[in-house]
Amino acid sequence: MAEYEYETHEYDVVVVGAGGAGLRATLGMAEQGLRTACVTKVFPTRSHTVAAQGGIAASLSNMGPDHWQWHMFDTVKGSDWLGDTDAMEYLAREAPKAVYELEHYGVPFSRTEEGKIYQRPFGGHTTEFGDGPPVQRTCAAADRTGHAILHTLYGQSLKNNAEFYVEYFAIDLVMSEDGQCQGVVCWKLDDGTMHVFNAKMVVLATGGYGRAYFSATSAHTCTGDGGGMVARAGLALQDMEFVQFHPTGIYGSGCLITEGARGEGGYLTNSEGERFMERYAPQYKDLAPRDYVSRSMTMEIREGRGVGAEGDHIHLNLSHLPAEALAERLPGISESAKIFAGVDVTKEPIPVIPTVHYNMGGVPTNYWGEVINPTKKDHNAIVPGLMAVGEAGCASVHGANRLGSNSLIDLVVFGRAAAIRAGQIVDADAPNPELNQASVDAAFARFDGLRHAKGNVSTAELRLEMQKTMQADAAVFRTSKTLKEGVEKMAQIAAKQDDLKVTDRSLVWNSDLMETLELTNLMPNALATIAGAEARTESRGAHAHEDFSKRDDENWRVHTISHLEGNKVKLSYRDVVKDPLTTEKEGGINLKRIAPKERTF
Ligand SMILES: Cc1cc2nc3c(=O)[nH]c(=O)nc-3n(C[C@H](O)[C@H](O)[C@H](O)COP(=O)(O)OP(=O)(O)OC[C@H]3O[C@@H](n4cnc5c(N)ncnc54)[C@H](O)[C@@H]3O)c2cc1C
Repeated sequence: MAEYEYETHEYDVVVVGAGGAGLRATLGMAEQGLRTACVTKVFPTRSHTVAAQGGIAASLSNMGPDHWQWHMFDTVKGSDWLGDTDAMEYLAREAPKAVYELEHYGVPFSRTEEGKIYQRPFGGHTTEFGDGPPVQRTCAAADRTGHAILHTLYGQSLKNNAEFYVEYFAIDLVMSEDGQCQGVVCWKLDDGTMHVFNAKMVVLATGGYGRAYFSATSAHTCTGDGGGMVARAGLALQDMEFVQFHPTGIYGSGCLITEGARGEGGYLTNSEGERFMERYAPQYKDLAPRDYVSRSMTMEIREGRGVGAEGDHIHLNLSHLPAEALAERLPGISESAKIFAGVDVTKEPIPVIPTVHYNMGGVPTNYWGEVINPTKKDHNAIVPGLMAVGEAGCASVHGANRLGSNSLIDLVVFGRAAAIRAGQIVDADAPNPELNQASVDAAFARFDGLRHAKGNVSTAELRLEMQKTMQADAAVFRTSKTLKEGVEKMAQIAAKQDDLKVTDRSLVWNSDLMETLELTNLMPNALATIAGAEARTESRGAHAHEDFSKRDDENWRVHTISHLEGNKVKLSYRDVVKDPLTTEKEGGINLKRIAPKERTF
C-alpha cells in the first residue's frame, strides 16, 4: 500500500456535516468556547437541508391555541408508538425555545399581520391530543425554510470562530482499542491532501441515505456516510427498515413538492377526478400523515385509478388557490413544477408519485445525541467520544414514521442538545486522546484499496443495481416474498464490492473514487434496511407488510438493532423507552394520553 502523509489537527470537537444539524451543533459548541471544527464534503449552504421547503414544527400558538403536549402526542402517534418517549418529550418541549433562538440568530421567518412567526398546517399535526381540528404549527420562511436556517446558522458559526474544513471527505472514524472515538480521517478533495482530525468529541451530522433508492427527493450527496463509518467501526444502526416515502415527488424526476402545498389547501385526485383521500382519512383527508397518504395513493394506482398514459401516478391540484397565495406562500414549488413537470400550477395539476424522502433509522443515540451501542447487557451503553445528530442519528423521535416539519426541529433541538451535553462532558483543558495508529492505518488501507480497485464492475453500475433492488423490494408495500428475494439479491450485490473497478487513481477531484467511497457507505445502510424489514413481521408506520398487515405491540414494540459483520447483518432488539422525562405531577403528559391505540385519521 502507498504510504499516505497526513496533517493532524487537534480540536475539542469535530463535527462532520454542515447541514442544519451539524451547523446547529457547531454553533452551540463554538458559543461555549470549545475549539470546534466542522468538516463537510460540500459547501455548508449546499447541504441537503437547503432544500427543505415546508417548515419547522413548534407549538408557538401564533395562529391559534397549541400546546407542547399536543405536539408530543402527535409525534408519538406519528411514530406509530415506536419513538422513545423521553426523546419525544424533549423534542416537543424544547421546540419553541429552539425556534425563538433561530429567530434571534436572524432566520427571516414569514410573518403574520401582527408580526409574529407565520405557521402553516402540516400533516398529522392536530389539537386536543388528536381530538381537535388540525393546528397551524409549522413555522415557515415562505417555502424556503431550510435555506433560511442554513444561511443564518453558517453566518453565526463563523461569527463565533468555528473553523470550517470545506470539501473535506470523512473516510472513517478513528477508534481506540477499547471503543472510544478519537477522531476522523479525511481526504481534502481539491488538492488530494490527507488530514486526521483528533478530538475529544466527534459529532456525526452526515444526513440520510436516500440515495440507496432509485427515486429519492434527497440530494445526490445523501449517501449515509455516517452510518457507513459507524457500521465499519462495529457499532450499531437502529430501525433502518423505516424509510419514509413522501406522497408528492414530481413524477419522473423525484423533485419534491412540499406537504405545505396541501397545507395551503392543495388536494390529490385520481383518474376519475375524485378527491380520494376523503375515503381513506375522513377526518384529516389530504393532511393525514405521509405513510398513510403514500399508501392510499399506491392503492388508487394499483386499483386502476392512476392518472397519465400508464395510469401510474396521481394529480396534485393547486389551481383553485388564488394566484397571489401561490406566489407568496409557494413560489419555489411553482417554479419546480414548471421546470420538472412543465406544469403551470395556476392552471394544471402536478403529476406526483410517492418518492423516498427520509430515513427514520440511523445511528442510535440518547436524547443528548450521545451514540449508544446496545448490547445484550446494556441497552443504553454509551460510546465515549461520539455523538450523532440530525437525519444520520436516531434519537428516536420519529419512530416508524416522521411527521412533516418534525425533522428541521429535530436538527436544531438535538444539534443544540449535543452542544449542551458537550459543554458538560468535554474538558477543554484536558489533553486530547492519543490516536490509535492501527485505526488510522486501517482507514488509509481501505482508501488505498478502493483507489486502486481493478475489478470488473463500475461504481455507477453497482450503485444502480442496488438502487433498483431497494426500490423494487423494500418499497411502499412489502411482502415476505419480495423482502426475501431482496435480501438475497442485496447480498449478491454487496459481494460485488470486491470486484469494483475504479479508473481514476489520482487524488485531486477524483469523483470516481469519491462516489466509490459513498457506495461503500450506502451499501451497509441498504443491507441493514432490507434485513430489518424482512425480519419485522408486522406493519407499523412506514413499514407496510402485506402478509402481516397489523401492528403487533406485544412482539414488535422494539427497536431493531443491526450490527454488520462484513456484508452480513446481525439483528437484535432494544426496548422502546416508554417513560417520559417528567411525570404528570411535574407538569408532564398523562401517560394514558399516549398509550398505544389504533392509528386512524
Ligand atoms: C427536498 C426535501 C425537503 C424537505 N423538507 C423538509 C421540511 O420542510 N421540513 C422538515 O422538517 N424536513 C424536511 N426535510 C427533511 C430534512 O430537510 C432533512 O432530514 C434534514 O435537512 C437533514 O439534515 P442534516 O443536517 O441531518 O443533514 P444534511 O442537510 O443532509 O447535511 C449533511 C451534511 O453532511 C456532510 N457530509 C456527509 N457525508 C460526509 C462525509 N463523508 N464527509 C464530510 N461531510 C459529509 C454534507 O457535506 C452535509 O454538510 C426535507 C428533505 C428533503 C430531501
